Amino acid sequence: MKKIIKRIAILVLFLIIIDIILSKPKKVIPKNIKSEVEVALEHFPELKNIPIEFKFKKNIEKSVMQAQPTFKGLFKSKENRSYRILISEKFKITGEEYSTTSVPKDVLIGWIGHELGHVMDYQNRSGLNLVAFGFRYAFLKEYVKKAERAADSFAVLRGMADYIIKTKRFILDHADIDPLYKERIKEYYLSPDEIMEMVKEKKEMAQN
Ligand SMILES: [Zn+2]
Repeated sequence: MKKIIKRIAILVLFLIIIDIILSKPKKVIPKNIKSEVEVALEHFPELKNIPIEFKFKKNIEKSVMQAQPTFKGLFKSKENRSYRILISEKFKITGEEYSTTSVPKDVLIGWIGHELGHVMDYQNRSGLNLVAFGFRYAFLKEYVKKAERAADSFAVLRGMADYIIKTKRFILDHADIDPLYKERIKEYYLSPDEIMEMVKEKKEMAQN
């Protein structure tokens, strides 16, 4: 009898070890932005078990970061989807290139929070809807505006208003940042005033 129990114990231990080896980490985060990503993630408990890989890329056209569903996860159920958040290694200020990780910590946290807002938005959509989303985002300006404002809103309603405002201010108040990028931020995203208004409304709703 003792022998059987011992064998079962060994088998269970073996299975646990195999499970640990085979289970993929839920988040892949480069070391140099780990603390910033963790602060942003704390605001999104719903994403705790969703695999997200944060990955640096040499250059991203028209933006600094980009959240996207992975292709293989697109047709899986929502709980089994995975995402990638691409981060441009550099961004331009008046023609000169700056390292993205050199921006103030809170600005970076706000930037990451906005991308996690996109992931929240994606999690509310079916796979087919996400494919349609991709096409509309690529071709319709109004749709870009809707998607960017939704991502901002998710982050603000999750308590990230201060970080999101710092990110906007950093871009809008930085005299040397590419004016085209500034225009894009003004046209498609929530403005600092709109964010403050949203926070006020949220507070009032909580009080009533
Ligand atoms: Zn965005």
